[in-house]
Amino acid sequence: AAAAVEAEQVVADLRERCATPASLLRDVASAMADEMGAGLEEEGGSRVKMLLSYVDKLPTGREEGLFYGLDLGGTNFRVLKVQLGGNKKHVVNSESREVTIPPHLMSGTSSELFGFIASELAKFVADEEENANANSLNGKKRELGFTFSFPVRQRSVASGTLVKWTKAFSIDDAVGEDVVAELQTAMSKQGLDMHVAALINDAVGTLAGARYYDEDVVAGVIFGTGTNAAYVERANAIPKWEGELPNSGDMVINMEWGNFYSSQLPVTEYDQELDKESLNPGEQIYEKLTSGMYLGEIVRRVLLKLSLQSGIFGDIDDSKLKAHFHLRTPHISAMHHDETPDLNIVAEKLHQILQITNTSLETRKMVVKICDIVARRAARLAAAGVAGILMKLGRNGCANTQRSVIAIDGGLFEHYTKFRECLESTLGELLGDEASKSVAVKHANDGSGIGAALIAASQSQ
Ligand code: ADP
Ligand code: MG
Repeated sequence: AAAAVEAEQVVADLRERCATPASLLRDVASAMADEMGAGLEEEGGSRVKMLLSYVDKLPTGREEGLFYGLDLGGTNFRVLKVQLGGNKKHVVNSESREVTIPPHLMSGTSSELFGFIASELAKFVADEEENANANSLNGKKRELGFTFSFPVRQRSVASGTLVKWTKAFSIDDAVGEDVVAELQTAMSKQGLDMHVAALINDAVGTLAGARYYDEDVVAGVIFGTGTNAAYVERANAIPKWEGELPNSGDMVINMEWGNFYSSQLPVTEYDQELDKESLNPGEQIYEKLTSGMYLGEIVRRVLLKLSLQSGIFGDIDDSKLKAHFHLRTPHISAMHHDETPDLNIVAEKLHQILQITNTSLETRKMVVKICDIVARRAARLAAAGVAGILMKLGRNGCANTQRSVIAIDGGLFEHYTKFRECLESTLGELLGDEASKSVAVKHANDGSGIGAALIAASQSQ
Protein backbone atom coordinates (compact mmCIF):
# COMPACT_ATOMS: atom_id res chain seq x y z
CA ALA A 1 0.00 0.00 0.00
CA ALA A 2 2.88 2.34 0.79
CA ALA A 3 4.27 1.59 -2.66
CA ALA A 4 0.97 2.53 -4.26
CA VAL A 5 0.86 5.84 -2.39
CA GLU A 6 4.42 6.67 -3.43
CA ALA A 7 3.64 5.73 -7.00
CA GLU A 8 0.48 7.85 -7.07
CA GLN A 9 2.59 10.76 -5.93
CA VAL A 10 5.05 10.33 -8.82
CA VAL A 11 2.14 10.33 -11.27
CA ALA A 12 0.47 13.30 -9.59
CA ASP A 13 3.72 15.31 -9.80
CA LEU A 14 4.11 14.38 -13.44
CA ARG A 15 0.56 15.45 -14.20
CA GLU A 16 1.09 18.77 -12.51
CA ARG A 17 4.38 19.50 -14.29
CA CYS A 18 2.99 18.48 -17.68
CA ALA A 19 -0.13 20.59 -17.40
CA THR A 20 -0.96 22.59 -20.52
CA PRO A 21 -3.95 24.83 -19.81
CA ALA A 22 -5.24 26.87 -22.75
CA SER A 23 -3.71 30.06 -21.34
CA LEU A 24 -0.24 28.48 -21.40
CA LEU A 25 -0.80 27.17 -24.92
CA ARG A 26 -1.86 30.62 -26.12
CA ASP A 27 1.41 31.98 -24.75
CA VAL A 28 3.31 29.20 -26.52
CA ALA A 29 1.49 29.98 -29.77
CA SER A 30 2.32 33.67 -29.58
CA ALA A 31 5.92 32.89 -28.63
CA MET A 32 6.08 30.69 -31.75
CA ALA A 33 4.66 33.51 -33.90
CA ASP A 34 7.16 35.96 -32.38
CA GLU A 35 10.09 33.61 -32.97
CA MET A 36 8.96 33.20 -36.56
CA GLY A 37 9.10 36.94 -37.04
CA ALA A 38 12.50 37.20 -35.36
CA GLY A 39 13.90 34.38 -37.50
CA LEU A 40 12.71 36.11 -40.68
CA GLU A 41 14.15 39.43 -39.54
CA GLU A 42 17.78 38.38 -39.62
CA GLU A 43 20.00 35.32 -39.90
CA GLY A 44 20.38 33.92 -36.38
CA GLY A 45 17.52 36.09 -35.11
CA SER A 46 15.84 33.12 -33.45
CA ARG A 47 16.40 29.54 -32.42
CA VAL A 48 13.69 28.86 -35.00
CA LYS A 49 15.86 29.22 -38.08
CA MET A 50 13.15 30.05 -40.64
CA LEU A 51 15.28 28.83 -43.53
CA LEU A 52 14.49 29.89 -47.07
CA SER A 53 13.63 26.82 -49.13
CA TYR A 54 13.95 28.62 -52.48
CA VAL A 55 10.70 26.95 -53.45
CA ASP A 56 8.81 29.94 -54.81
CA LYS A 57 6.23 28.08 -56.81
CA LEU A 58 4.31 25.11 -55.52
CA PRO A 59 2.83 22.42 -57.75
CA THR A 60 -0.50 23.30 -59.29
CA GLY A 61 -1.76 19.97 -60.60
CA ARG A 62 -0.86 20.81 -64.18
CA GLU A 63 2.62 19.24 -64.14
CA GLU A 64 3.24 16.43 -66.58
CA GLY A 65 5.77 13.62 -67.01
CA LEU A 66 7.78 11.06 -65.06
CA PHE A 67 9.60 12.18 -61.90
CA TYR A 68 11.53 10.51 -59.14
CA GLY A 69 11.61 11.17 -55.42
CA LEU A 70 13.93 10.15 -52.61
CA ASP A 71 12.93 10.57 -48.99
CA LEU A 72 15.51 10.37 -46.21
CA GLY A 73 14.26 11.36 -42.79
CA GLY A 74 14.45 8.89 -39.98
CA THR A 75 15.09 5.21 -39.92
CA ASN A 76 13.87 4.36 -43.38
CA PHE A 77 14.23 5.93 -46.71
CA ARG A 78 11.99 5.65 -49.68
CA VAL A 79 12.53 5.82 -53.38
CA LEU A 80 9.60 6.46 -55.63
CA LYS A 81 8.53 7.52 -59.06
CA VAL A 82 5.37 9.23 -60.19
CA GLN A 83 3.79 9.63 -63.58
CA LEU A 84 1.95 12.95 -63.66
CA GLY A 85 -0.95 13.25 -66.08
CA GLY A 86 -0.98 17.04 -66.30
CA ASN A 87 -4.06 19.23 -66.52
CA LYS A 88 -5.48 18.13 -63.15
CA LYS A 89 -5.29 14.45 -64.04
CA HIS A 90 -2.83 14.29 -61.16
CA VAL A 91 -0.80 11.18 -60.36
CA VAL A 92 -1.69 8.57 -62.95
CA ASN A 93 0.84 6.03 -61.73
CA SER A 94 3.30 5.68 -58.88
CA GLU A 95 5.69 3.07 -57.53
CA SER A 96 7.71 3.19 -54.36
CA ARG A 97 10.08 1.11 -52.29
CA GLU A 98 11.07 1.50 -48.67
CA VAL A 99 14.52 0.58 -47.40
CA THR A 100 15.77 0.39 -43.81
CA ILE A 101 18.99 2.24 -43.17
CA PRO A 102 21.51 -0.03 -41.45
CA PRO A 103 22.11 1.65 -38.06
CA HIS A 104 25.90 1.74 -38.43
CA LEU A 105 25.48 4.02 -41.45
CA MET A 106 23.78 6.66 -39.29
CA SER A 107 27.03 7.48 -37.57
CA GLY A 108 29.59 6.42 -40.17
CA THR A 109 30.89 8.53 -42.99
CA SER A 110 29.06 10.66 -45.47
CA SER A 111 30.23 8.68 -48.50
CA GLU A 112 29.07 5.40 -46.96
CA LEU A 113 25.59 6.77 -46.32
CA PHE A 114 25.18 8.40 -49.74
CA GLY A 115 26.78 5.40 -51.44
CA PHE A 116 24.18 3.15 -49.85
CA ILE A 117 21.33 5.45 -50.84
CA ALA A 118 22.55 5.77 -54.43
CA SER A 119 22.96 2.03 -54.80
CA GLU A 120 19.41 1.39 -53.58
CA LEU A 121 18.11 4.08 -55.91
CA ALA A 122 20.02 2.54 -58.83
CA LYS A 123 18.47 -0.87 -58.05
CA PHE A 124 14.99 0.64 -57.95
CA VAL A 125 15.46 2.39 -61.27
CA ALA A 126 16.88 -0.75 -62.90
CA ASP A 127 14.02 -2.94 -61.62
CA GLU A 128 11.42 -0.41 -62.65
CA GLU A 129 12.76 0.01 -66.14
CA GLU A 130 12.85 -3.72 -66.65
CA ASN A 131 9.13 -3.82 -65.87
CA ALA A 132 8.12 -0.78 -67.86
CA ASN A 133 7.11 -1.57 -71.40
CA ALA A 134 7.26 1.97 -72.71
CA ASN A 135 10.00 4.37 -71.71
CA SER A 136 8.07 7.44 -70.64
CA LEU A 137 11.21 9.56 -70.40
CA ASN A 138 11.50 9.93 -74.18
CA GLY A 139 15.24 10.40 -73.96
CA LYS A 140 15.04 13.12 -71.30
CA LYS A 141 17.25 12.99 -68.23
CA ARG A 142 15.61 11.59 -65.13
CA GLU A 143 14.65 14.36 -62.71
CA LEU A 144 14.76 13.68 -58.98
CA GLY A 145 13.44 15.54 -55.96
CA PHE A 146 15.37 14.81 -52.78
CA THR A 147 13.61 15.05 -49.44
CA PHE A 148 16.28 15.36 -46.78
CA SER A 149 14.74 16.04 -43.40
CA PHE A 150 17.57 17.66 -41.49
CA PRO A 151 18.36 21.36 -41.22
CA VAL A 152 20.01 22.55 -44.41
CA ARG A 153 21.06 26.05 -45.42
CA GLN A 154 20.14 26.65 -49.04
CA ARG A 155 21.17 29.16 -51.68
CA SER A 156 19.13 27.61 -54.43
CA VAL A 157 16.37 25.05 -54.71
CA ALA A 158 18.79 22.31 -55.77
CA SER A 159 21.65 22.70 -53.30
CA GLY A 160 22.13 23.02 -49.58
CA THR A 161 24.70 22.55 -46.87
CA LEU A 162 23.90 20.51 -43.82
CA VAL A 163 23.66 22.68 -40.70
CA LYS A 164 23.55 19.82 -38.20
CA TRP A 165 22.17 16.34 -37.77
CA THR A 166 19.13 15.64 -35.58
CA LYS A 167 17.24 12.50 -34.51
CA ALA A 168 19.51 9.43 -34.54
CA PHE A 169 22.00 10.66 -37.13
CA SER A 170 25.46 11.94 -36.46
CA ILE A 171 27.91 11.79 -39.36
CA ASP A 172 30.48 14.47 -38.65
CA ASP A 173 32.08 14.74 -42.07
CA ALA A 174 28.74 15.61 -43.69
CA VAL A 175 28.13 18.75 -41.64
CA GLY A 176 28.82 21.86 -43.72
CA GLU A 177 28.80 19.87 -46.97
CA ASP A 178 26.37 20.21 -49.85
CA VAL A 179 24.15 17.14 -49.59
CA VAL A 180 23.04 17.40 -53.22
CA ALA A 181 26.65 17.31 -54.42
CA GLU A 182 27.27 14.27 -52.21
CA LEU A 183 24.24 12.50 -53.60
CA GLN A 184 25.08 13.50 -57.17
CA THR A 185 28.63 12.13 -56.77
CA ALA A 186 27.38 8.89 -55.24
CA MET A 187 24.89 8.48 -58.10
CA SER A 188 27.52 8.92 -60.78
CA LYS A 189 29.70 6.32 -59.04
CA GLN A 190 26.74 3.99 -59.50
CA GLY A 191 26.48 5.00 -63.16
CA LEU A 192 23.04 6.41 -62.47
CA ASP A 193 22.11 9.20 -64.87
CA MET A 194 19.82 11.37 -62.81
CA HIS A 195 19.59 15.07 -62.04
CA VAL A 196 18.69 16.39 -58.62
CA ALA A 197 16.19 19.14 -59.45
CA ALA A 198 15.17 20.03 -55.91
CA LEU A 199 16.31 19.58 -52.34
CA ILE A 200 13.55 19.90 -49.79
CA ASN A 201 12.61 18.47 -46.43
CA ASP A 202 9.58 16.46 -45.40
CA ALA A 203 7.64 19.48 -44.17
CA VAL A 204 8.09 21.30 -47.49
CA GLY A 205 7.26 18.04 -49.28
CA THR A 206 4.08 17.61 -47.25
CA LEU A 207 3.09 21.18 -48.06
CA ALA A 208 3.77 20.64 -51.77
CA GLY A 209 2.07 17.26 -51.90
CA ALA A 210 -1.11 18.63 -50.31
CA ARG A 211 -1.06 21.88 -52.29
CA TYR A 212 -0.97 19.88 -55.51
CA TYR A 213 -4.56 18.85 -54.75
CA ASP A 214 -5.83 21.84 -52.78
CA GLU A 215 -4.71 25.44 -53.21
CA ASP A 216 -5.87 26.47 -49.73
CA VAL A 217 -3.09 24.47 -48.08
CA VAL A 218 -0.90 26.99 -46.24
CA ALA A 219 1.43 24.79 -44.19
CA GLY A 220 2.91 21.34 -44.03
CA VAL A 221 3.70 19.89 -40.62
CA ILE A 222 5.47 16.70 -39.60
CA PHE A 223 5.04 14.69 -36.43
CA GLY A 224 7.12 11.62 -37.07
CA THR A 225 10.46 10.62 -35.64
CA GLY A 226 11.08 14.35 -35.33
CA THR A 227 8.91 17.39 -35.94
CA ASN A 228 9.07 20.32 -38.32
CA ALA A 229 6.85 22.74 -40.21
CA ALA A 230 6.94 24.68 -43.46
CA TYR A 231 4.57 27.34 -44.66
CA VAL A 232 4.04 29.84 -47.44
CA GLU A 233 5.25 33.32 -46.52
CA ARG A 234 4.91 36.50 -48.52
CA ALA A 235 8.33 37.30 -49.94
CA ASN A 236 8.14 40.92 -48.79
CA ALA A 237 7.66 39.77 -45.19
CA ILE A 238 11.17 38.28 -45.11
CA PRO A 239 13.53 41.17 -44.24
CA LYS A 240 16.61 38.92 -44.10
CA TRP A 241 16.22 37.93 -47.73
CA GLU A 242 18.65 39.85 -49.88
CA GLY A 243 18.04 38.16 -53.22
CA GLU A 244 15.69 39.10 -55.97
CA LEU A 245 12.00 38.70 -55.13
CA PRO A 246 10.33 35.84 -56.98
CA ASN A 247 7.56 36.47 -59.51
CA SER A 248 5.06 34.55 -57.43
CA GLY A 249 5.62 36.91 -54.48
CA ASP A 250 5.75 33.84 -52.23
CA MET A 251 8.48 31.82 -50.59
CA VAL A 252 8.17 28.56 -48.73
CA ILE A 253 9.87 28.83 -45.35
CA ASN A 254 11.34 25.76 -43.72
CA MET A 255 10.85 26.70 -40.09
CA GLU A 256 12.97 24.05 -38.35
CA TRP A 257 10.59 24.56 -35.47
CA GLY A 258 11.88 21.50 -33.62
CA ASN A 259 14.45 23.84 -32.10
CA PHE A 260 11.76 26.16 -30.72
CA TYR A 261 12.09 27.01 -27.06
CA SER A 262 10.06 29.14 -24.72
CA SER A 263 10.25 29.40 -20.94
CA GLN A 264 6.52 28.59 -21.03
CA LEU A 265 7.19 25.04 -22.19
CA PRO A 266 6.28 22.57 -19.44
CA VAL A 267 9.65 20.85 -19.12
CA THR A 268 10.01 18.22 -16.38
CA GLU A 269 13.01 16.63 -14.69
CA TYR A 270 12.56 13.68 -17.06
CA ASP A 271 12.83 15.95 -20.08
CA GLN A 272 15.87 17.69 -18.66
CA GLU A 273 17.69 14.42 -18.11
CA LEU A 274 16.68 13.09 -21.50
CA ASP A 275 18.01 16.27 -23.08
CA LYS A 276 21.26 16.19 -21.12
CA GLU A 277 21.96 12.61 -22.20
CA SER A 278 20.90 13.15 -25.82
CA LEU A 279 23.05 13.50 -28.94
CA ASN A 280 22.17 17.20 -29.08
CA PRO A 281 21.84 18.61 -25.55
CA GLY A 282 20.15 21.99 -25.30
CA GLU A 283 18.80 21.72 -28.83
CA GLN A 284 15.49 20.66 -30.36
CA ILE A 285 13.62 21.09 -27.08
CA TYR A 286 10.19 21.41 -28.74
CA GLU A 287 10.98 18.30 -30.78
CA LYS A 288 11.95 16.41 -27.64
CA LEU A 289 8.53 17.18 -26.13
CA THR A 290 6.42 16.43 -29.19
CA SER A 291 7.89 13.81 -31.47
CA GLY A 292 7.93 10.07 -31.90
CA MET A 293 11.59 9.54 -31.22
CA TYR A 294 11.17 10.78 -27.65
CA LEU A 295 7.69 10.09 -26.25
CA GLY A 296 8.41 6.44 -25.47
CA GLU A 297 11.72 7.41 -23.89
CA ILE A 298 10.05 10.00 -21.64
CA VAL A 299 7.56 7.37 -20.46
CA ARG A 300 10.42 4.91 -19.85
CA ARG A 301 12.13 7.46 -17.63
CA VAL A 302 8.96 7.99 -15.63
CA LEU A 303 8.45 4.23 -15.24
CA LEU A 304 12.02 3.83 -14.08
CA LYS A 305 11.56 6.52 -11.47
CA LEU A 306 8.31 4.87 -10.44
CA SER A 307 10.09 1.56 -10.03
CA LEU A 308 13.05 2.94 -8.11
CA GLN A 309 11.03 5.22 -5.88
CA SER A 310 8.02 3.09 -5.06
CA GLY A 311 8.97 -0.48 -5.92
CA ILE A 312 5.51 -0.77 -7.43
CA PHE A 313 6.66 -3.32 -10.01
CA GLY A 314 8.07 -5.60 -7.33
CA ASP A 315 11.44 -7.21 -7.44
CA ILE A 316 12.21 -7.06 -11.17
CA ASP A 317 15.25 -7.25 -13.37
CA ASP A 318 15.29 -3.60 -14.40
CA SER A 319 18.04 -3.82 -17.03
CA LYS A 320 15.52 -3.31 -19.84
CA LEU A 321 13.76 -0.54 -17.96
CA LYS A 322 17.13 1.17 -17.65
CA ALA A 323 18.03 0.84 -21.33
CA HIS A 324 17.77 4.18 -23.12
CA PHE A 325 15.17 4.30 -25.90
CA HIS A 326 14.19 0.70 -25.26
CA LEU A 327 10.53 1.61 -24.81
CA ARG A 328 9.41 3.08 -28.10
CA THR A 329 6.54 5.35 -29.01
CA PRO A 330 4.59 2.63 -30.87
CA HIS A 331 4.70 0.61 -27.62
CA ILE A 332 3.25 3.42 -25.51
CA SER A 333 0.68 4.01 -28.24
CA ALA A 334 -0.38 0.35 -28.05
CA MET A 335 -0.69 0.54 -24.26
CA HIS A 336 -2.51 3.86 -24.38
CA HIS A 337 -5.11 2.50 -26.79
CA ASP A 338 -5.63 -0.76 -24.89
CA GLU A 339 -9.38 -1.24 -24.56
CA THR A 340 -9.42 -4.70 -23.04
CA PRO A 341 -11.10 -4.63 -19.60
CA ASP A 342 -8.03 -6.13 -17.93
CA LEU A 343 -5.54 -4.05 -19.89
CA ASN A 344 -4.02 -7.18 -21.37
CA ILE A 345 -2.03 -5.30 -23.96
CA VAL A 346 -0.44 -3.18 -21.25
CA ALA A 347 0.45 -6.34 -19.35
CA GLU A 348 1.90 -7.90 -22.47
CA LYS A 349 4.02 -4.87 -23.42
CA LEU A 350 5.31 -4.42 -19.89
CA HIS A 351 6.29 -8.06 -19.86
CA GLN A 352 7.75 -8.37 -23.36
CA ILE A 353 9.56 -5.08 -23.52
CA LEU A 354 10.44 -4.18 -19.97
CA GLN A 355 10.41 -7.56 -18.20
CA ILE A 356 7.83 -6.28 -15.76
CA THR A 357 5.48 -9.12 -14.80
CA ASN A 358 2.59 -9.80 -12.45
CA THR A 359 1.28 -6.25 -12.41
CA SER A 360 -2.03 -5.47 -10.79
CA LEU A 361 -4.80 -3.84 -12.78
CA GLU A 362 -4.29 -0.70 -10.70
CA THR A 363 -0.64 -0.57 -11.70
CA ARG A 364 -1.47 -1.07 -15.35
CA LYS A 365 -3.99 1.77 -15.14
CA MET A 366 -1.25 3.93 -13.75
CA VAL A 367 0.98 3.09 -16.72
CA VAL A 368 -1.81 4.11 -19.11
CA LYS A 369 -2.18 7.38 -17.19
CA ILE A 370 1.50 8.10 -17.68
CA CYS A 371 1.26 7.46 -21.42
CA ASP A 372 -1.77 9.72 -21.50
CA ILE A 373 -0.04 12.57 -19.68
CA VAL A 374 3.01 12.45 -21.94
CA ALA A 375 1.11 12.05 -25.22
CA ARG A 376 -1.49 14.66 -24.34
CA ARG A 377 1.15 17.23 -23.45
CA ALA A 378 2.83 16.50 -26.79
CA ALA A 379 -0.38 16.83 -28.78
CA ARG A 380 -1.43 20.05 -27.04
CA LEU A 381 1.98 21.64 -27.58
CA ALA A 382 1.79 20.48 -31.20
CA ALA A 383 -1.55 22.26 -31.57
CA ALA A 384 -0.06 25.40 -30.06
CA GLY A 385 2.67 25.33 -32.70
CA VAL A 386 0.10 25.09 -35.48
CA ALA A 387 -1.89 27.92 -33.88
CA GLY A 388 1.34 29.96 -33.87
CA ILE A 389 1.66 29.61 -37.65
CA LEU A 390 -1.96 30.65 -38.17
CA MET A 391 -1.35 33.60 -35.86
CA LYS A 392 1.71 34.65 -37.87
CA LEU A 393 -0.37 34.49 -41.04
CA GLY A 394 -3.21 36.45 -39.44
CA ARG A 395 -5.52 33.51 -40.00
CA ASN A 396 -6.35 32.71 -36.39
CA GLY A 397 -9.05 35.29 -35.71
CA CYS A 398 -12.80 35.17 -36.20
CA ALA A 399 -12.62 38.08 -38.65
CA ASN A 400 -10.73 35.81 -41.02
CA THR A 401 -12.90 33.84 -43.42
CA GLN A 402 -10.21 32.71 -45.82
CA ARG A 403 -10.01 28.92 -45.77
CA SER A 404 -6.70 27.59 -44.40
CA VAL A 405 -5.68 23.98 -44.62
CA ILE A 406 -2.84 22.58 -42.54
CA ALA A 407 -1.44 19.37 -44.00
CA ILE A 408 0.03 17.08 -41.37
CA ASP A 409 2.01 13.89 -41.85
CA GLY A 410 4.40 11.65 -39.96
CA GLY A 411 4.11 8.30 -38.26
CA LEU A 412 3.16 9.76 -34.89
CA PHE A 413 0.25 11.73 -36.32
CA GLU A 414 -0.77 8.88 -38.58
CA HIS A 415 -0.72 5.99 -36.12
CA TYR A 416 -1.14 7.47 -32.65
CA THR A 417 -4.89 8.07 -32.75
CA LYS A 418 -5.17 9.72 -29.34
CA PHE A 419 -2.33 12.07 -30.21
CA ARG A 420 -4.04 13.07 -33.42
CA GLU A 421 -7.47 13.51 -31.86
CA CYS A 422 -6.05 15.59 -29.04
CA LEU A 423 -4.07 17.76 -31.45
CA GLU A 424 -7.18 18.45 -33.53
CA SER A 425 -9.47 19.18 -30.59
CA THR A 426 -6.88 21.39 -28.92
CA LEU A 427 -6.49 23.43 -32.09
CA GLY A 428 -10.26 23.94 -32.04
CA GLU A 429 -10.05 25.00 -28.41
CA LEU A 430 -7.31 27.53 -29.17
CA LEU A 431 -8.95 29.02 -32.25
CA GLY A 432 -12.50 29.10 -30.89
CA ASP A 433 -15.62 28.00 -32.74
CA GLU A 434 -15.80 30.89 -35.18
CA ALA A 435 -12.19 30.84 -36.42
CA SER A 436 -12.20 27.02 -36.46
CA LYS A 437 -14.78 27.08 -39.24
CA SER A 438 -12.23 28.28 -41.76
CA VAL A 439 -9.34 26.08 -40.60
CA ALA A 440 -8.97 22.43 -41.54
CA VAL A 441 -6.36 19.89 -40.55
CA LYS A 442 -5.76 17.27 -43.17
CA HIS A 443 -3.71 14.12 -42.99
CA ALA A 444 -1.43 14.46 -45.98
CA ASN A 445 -0.53 10.87 -46.48
CA ASP A 446 2.92 10.35 -47.79
CA GLY A 447 3.48 13.87 -49.01
CA SER A 448 7.13 13.93 -48.13
CA GLY A 449 8.21 11.57 -50.89
CA ILE A 450 5.72 12.54 -53.57
CA GLY A 451 6.15 16.21 -52.69
CA ALA A 452 9.80 16.08 -53.70
CA ALA A 453 8.93 14.57 -57.06
CA LEU A 454 6.20 17.21 -57.52
CA ILE A 455 8.58 20.06 -56.75
CA ALA A 456 11.13 18.51 -59.12
CA ALA A 457 8.33 18.61 -61.69
CA SER A 458 7.26 22.19 -61.02
CA GLN A 459 10.89 23.35 -61.04
CA SER A 460 11.75 21.67 -64.30
CA GLN A 461 8.69 22.88 -66.22
P1 ADP B 1 10.30 9.64 -40.23
O1 ADP B 1 9.88 10.74 -39.33
O2 ADP B 1 11.44 8.88 -39.70
O3 ADP B 1 10.43 10.05 -41.64
P2 ADP B 1 7.66 8.50 -40.00
O4 ADP B 1 6.99 9.75 -40.37
O5 ADP B 1 7.18 7.22 -40.59
O6 ADP B 1 9.20 8.52 -40.24
O7 ADP B 1 7.54 8.39 -38.43
C1 ADP B 1 8.10 7.33 -37.75
C2 ADP B 1 7.85 7.57 -36.30
O8 ADP B 1 6.46 7.51 -36.04
C3 ADP B 1 8.48 6.53 -35.43
O9 ADP B 1 9.75 6.96 -35.00
C4 ADP B 1 7.52 6.43 -34.27
O10 ADP B 1 7.93 7.27 -33.25
C5 ADP B 1 6.22 6.94 -34.79
N1 ADP B 1 5.29 5.82 -34.95
C6 ADP B 1 5.32 4.86 -35.88
N2 ADP B 1 4.34 3.97 -35.69
C7 ADP B 1 3.68 4.37 -34.59
C8 ADP B 1 2.57 3.87 -33.84
N3 ADP B 1 1.93 2.76 -34.18
N4 ADP B 1 2.18 4.57 -32.78
C9 ADP B 1 2.81 5.68 -32.42
N5 ADP B 1 3.86 6.19 -33.05
C10 ADP B 1 4.29 5.56 -34.12
MG1 MG C 1 9.28 10.89 -43.06
